[in-house]
Order: sequence, then C-alpha cells, then structure tokens
Amino acid sequence: MSLVIHPMIRELHEKIQNGEKTAVAIATEYFARIRERDGGLHAYLDVREAAALREAEAVDQAVAKGEAIDLLAGIPGAVKDNLLLVGERTTAGSKILDNYIATYDATVVAKLHTAGAVILGKTNLDEFAMGASTENSGYGPTRHPLDPNRVPGGSSGGSAVSVAADMAVWALGSDTGGSIRQPAAFCGLYGMKPTYGRVSRSGLIAMASSLDQIGPFGQSVEDVAIVLSRIAGEDSLDATASMRPIPRYEDLLTDDIKGKKIGVPNEYFTDKLDAKVKAAAMAALDVFKSLGAEIIPISLPHSHLALPVYYIIQPCETSSNLARFDGIRYGLSVNDQEDSFERTSTLLETYLDTRKVGLGPEVKRRIMLGTYALSAGYYDAYYKKALAVRSLLRQDFQKAFESVDVIFSPTTPEVAFKLGSKTSDPLKMYFSDIYTVTANLVGVPAISFPIGTIADDGAALPIGGQFMGRWFEEQTVLNLTHAFETAGQQVSL
Ligand code: GLN
Repeated sequence: MSLVIHPMIRELHEKIQNGEKTAVAIATEYFARIRERDGGLHAYLDVREAAALREAEAVDQAVAKGEAIDLLAGIPGAVKDNLLLVGERTTAGSKILDNYIATYDATVVAKLHTAGAVILGKTNLDEFAMGASTENSGYGPTRHPLDPNRVPGGSSGGSAVSVAADMAVWALGSDTGGSIRQPAAFCGLYGMKPTYGRVSRSGLIAMASSLDQIGPFGQSVEDVAIVLSRIAGEDSLDATASMRPIPRYEDLLTDDIKGKKIGVPNEYFTDKLDAKVKAAAMAALDVFKSLGAEIIPISLPHSHLALPVYYIIQPCETSSNLARFDGIRYGLSVNDQEDSFERTSTLLETYLDTRKVGLGPEVKRRIMLGTYALSAGYYDAYYKKALAVRSLLRQDFQKAFESVDVIFSPTTPEVAFKLGSKTSDPLKMYFSDIYTVTANLVGVPAISFPIGTIADDGAALPIGGQFMGRWFEEQTVLNLTHAFETAGQQVSL
C-alpha cells in the first residue's frame, strides 16, 4: 500500500458547506475504507459507526438549514484510545481496562464535538502509551502501511496509521516523550506536540503528568493547525491548562520566513548520527536557507542527559499514576466472578493478582523502575537529581532561544524499523526517543514534518525533521514548517 494523499480539511469543508457532498457520505466512505484496510493494519481498536453517522447527520442538518459550519464540522477523524469518550470502551491499550467504559468526555473530545467533528473510532497504542512501536499494545501491534513487517512508530501508532492509510482525515495522539512526533515521522505525516499546558489533559489517561500533552496528526500543516486551534485553550478541569488566548493558527499561516533564525545544536549532529538521516536533515536546512532563514550553530550542553533523565522522571510519575489500576476501582479485577461470594483472596492478593495478569511487561518494568527511583534512599540519588538536570536542560533552551527562533533536528535516529527488532532490548527501543524527549522535559512546542525518504531493504521510507520552538510559540513552528511544505523539496536518499 502506498501512503495516500487524501483531501485536506479545507477542501472537504467546502464540499460539505456548499452541499456538494454530505458529511454522512464522507463518513460512510471512511468506514468502507476502514473495513477494507484495517484488517491488515490494525490501526483501530474500536470503530463507532452508528454514533459517528449521527454526528455527521447533525452537520448535514445544519448545512440544510443554511448555517455556516466550522472548518472541522463533518470532517472524520480518530482519537487515541487513552482519551475518554463517554459511553465508549477506553482501554489505553491495556488488558487491565479491557471492559472499562468512559464516564465522561475528555476536554479535547468535548471541544471536537462542539466544532462538529466526526469521531470514527479509537486507535491502537502501546499499553498506557509506553513504547515507540505500538508493539506493546495488549491488543496486538499496528503495522506500517508501506511495509507490514515494519512498525509505524509509537506509542500513537494507530492514530498515525489511521491518517497515513486514509482511514481518517486527522487524528489525535498523546506525546509524553515523542509519541506523536516519532510515528508521524515514520508514517510521512505532520504531528505536533504543543507547549505543555496549551491543551487540557482532562480525560487523558495519565502516563507522566508533567510531560503528557495531546496533539494532532494531519497530512498538511494547515490540517494540524486547524485541529490544534480547536482543542487548545483553558479548562477549569485542568489547572495546568494555560489561560492564554488561542490564535486561529490556520488563519495566521505564512510562508514568509525571511530572517527567521534556525538553531542547529552541534550535540545532535555528531558522528553517531546515521549518514543518510544526517544528509536528509542537511538537505532540509539548505531548503530553509534558500527560503531566507538563517542557519545558526548552537549548543545545548546538557543534551546527553535528556534520555537518562526522561527514563527516570517518566517511570517515577508512571508508577504513581498507575497505582489506581488495582482491581478495585477500574476495569479488570481477578475477583470479578459469578461466584463472587466464594472469594478467597485478600485485598493485597486482589491488587497483586489483578496487576499481574492485567499489565504487560513494559508497563511492569516502568512501574518497577519508578518505584525503585522514588524509594527512600534512592529518591535523592535518582529522582531529585533528575529534576535538577531537567532545570539545566530548560536553561539550555532559554539561552538558545535568546539567539534563535527555533531549534532543528531529525525527529528520529532512523526510519521505521522491523517488527520484533527491538522488543528484546528495551534500551534499544528507548534510544528511538533520543531527539524527542527533550521537548517534553522542557515543555516547549515541537512538530515533526516529512523531509524526504530513505531507502531501506527495498522500501522508500519517510524521514521526519523536527522543530522545537519557544514556549507558546506554536505559530512560529507551524509557519516554518508550512514554508518547507510549500517549497515541496523533499529528498530521496
Ligand atoms: N517512547 C517513549 C516512551 O516509551 C515516549 C512515549 C510517549 O510519548 N507516550 O516512554
């Protein structure tokens, strides 16, 4: 299968608004394509055909009444299955939530519904969003649309594939250390992690609360901008959601990037960087230069500490967040049997046995790492030290942003890898996150965008470039990316 370029949001919007096509007809086409393609790809965990068609029908009725509809109204998309949608099963990719039905809508879902968006279904992910390949899903892996023997990236692999294989126009993912950007890069898409606090996390099943952000996948910068404008903003249900006004990012897009300063950290472009990935990144920088941007070498001296710091802070927060899945409060319980009066297990056995059968190996590994690093005697040596280094990383960025507008790097150290090639060595898998975790640790907005393809074992696979911008300057990041998209000069290596 090739990566299909399907109509963008604005094009579909115009068709719906002027009556050329109904939202119901569009949603119906997407469900037909899901039935045809998703058997082999497994991007979706659940589809919600009846509910989605009702949402589409409401949009068609508004159009029939002559109402002006929102750009996103009637446009079909998908949401990662760690986002709550009231009345729908929400598993976070875990068997421990196999029978869990959400009791309220995530704020982003409520906002999408207010805009009139049509939600086709819930997408596959690494269990509780821990992973970089979607192989850690409790429901089996998602496969890359260009080569079924490769991973689509993770943890939001299902969301990426839903868009890349034309089974959704847009999708939402969550990004704690790269889970939107890395699969976007592997699947040739645009994927954005907004500034920490730009989008409410209410109704996102927490992985690591100080790092998690929800963001969009799209086939164009404008599509990402449109979805982001609609999900961002303050929320009384999330005290960390910023009250700053939200620009209509799509209305402010420009290709005029003359004089913009792009920082290139020498710590990211070392001899260890794969030669072809480096060549693709350099070719993208040449395009930016030709568009009038200035390329400025910079230093982020603590970069080498980002991955180790992430893999302390993330498991610490995860071990705490996941304590609530105990066989009592949510989802699976080993005590849920017909003959429940016959229970013989103690409370502690219920906790332990439920978690033993309900959680997968990677999740258990992170809980153990986090519990260890938070325990008395190790807290100072690991967690506290990691927090101190996190501040140093933030200072590196503050300093860099005194002289540049954005920071550029590859999104990933390599293209989409083969299924099973990293599952036996967690450290190899963690290395996939080398360029992405820092944006989460320091809280800045970051986007991945397609810069070309690299031939690997018979397949031409997408490679992504990443921009990180100043806090709350999503617009700058989007504009630079838009200028590159318009230039249309991707490389094939
Ligand atoms: N791959 C990273 C991890 O496994 C990032 C995950 C994410 O962003 N949710 O932790």
